Amino acid sequence: MESETYQREYTDDFVNRWDKLIGWEGRAKGEDGFFEGLLDQYNCKSVADIATGTGFHAVILADQGYEVTAADGAEAMVEKTKENARQMDVTLKDAKTVDWRELDKVFAHNSFDSLLCLGNAFTHLFDEDDRRRSLEAMLNVLKPGGIAVIDHRNYDKILDHGYDSKHQYYYVGSGVDARPVIIQDDMVRFEYSYPDGNKFHLTMFPLRQSYMRSLMDEAGFTELHSYGDFEKKYDPENVDFLQVVGRKP
Ligand code: SAM
Repeated sequence: MESETYQREYTDDFVNRWDKLIGWEGRAKGEDGFFEGLLDQYNCKSVADIATGTGFHAVILADQGYEVTAADGAEAMVEKTKENARQMDVTLKDAKTVDWRELDKVFAHNSFDSLLCLGNAFTHLFDEDDRRRSLEAMLNVLKPGGIAVIDHRNYDKILDHGYDSKHQYYYVGSGVDARPVIIQDDMVRFEYSYPDGNKFHLTMFPLRQSYMRSLMDEAGFTELHSYGDFEKKYDPENVDFLQVVGRKP
């Protein structure tokens, strides 16, 4: 499996259906200002949403006055983000197609107070060198003292106990079902089924929590800490998603 697989899997049709899958209103309710709280805690004014997808976080945060740059490796996603921003009358500082491994070639070093890589995005990288390169590029474009927030599914739970989901925070769009059809130590394939019978697939690398944290630690992030389904105190056996925060020294 290659780290470029995502480019083929996010077809125009799937991109156009993404908002139905995530359900903006339910998701905003589930997150309940968690990311705004983190950004404010670290005094972040500028935000780069580097896995912006259709722009859910970029648009909401820009609307609240943060200076937001949206980026994604899939051009169709960036176009959808621009469209969503226009529709919601929100101004983004910039919106660009950028692969994480090239972030520091496109954006100047020390550009952002914070980086968001959300919605189980980092899991799309299949090669460890690509993960390390991406984290290095993220550190480069962050200002000293800036934070990166990377979230991912609780793959420990999926690999060790099988899949179940509360569907409480992510993928709360009505009538759309997301579940894995293949679970292996080195690959998990999710199927997204829509009420009209259409199905789409995403192939992901199952990041265990300790591995993700060690990658961030080895890349040079400090003050690492994790949240489970947006809570500081959480049961690692039970939460669906983990949010990992690291700081550039
Ligand atoms: N953050 C959005 C959300 O939560 O709705 C989108 C999440 S979506 C599951 C993951 C996103 O990561 C996709 O838009 C995909 O194009 C992007 N992505 C995957 N690999 C990437 C890479 N190497 N560089 C940049 N973007 C990438």
